[in-house]
Amino acid sequence: MTVVCAWCQRLGRPAVLGQKEPLDMADITHGICDEHVLIWRAEVQQSLVGQANRTV
Ligand SMILES: [Zn+2]
Repeated sequence: MTVVCAWCQRLGRPAVLGQKEPLDMADITHGICDEHVLIWRAEVQQSLVGQANRTV
């Protein structure tokens, strides 16, 4: 099956990350690319910091 980055897809960018087992299955699964994983991590960290500030 084909792995696409859900974020890139939303932005209308080329989103195909590669193939995943089973390779003979013409299906699409969603993943995240290297670029968006960094953005996602930064956002998670920011939201965690935000929550910590609220509880203190
Ligand atoms: Zn992406």
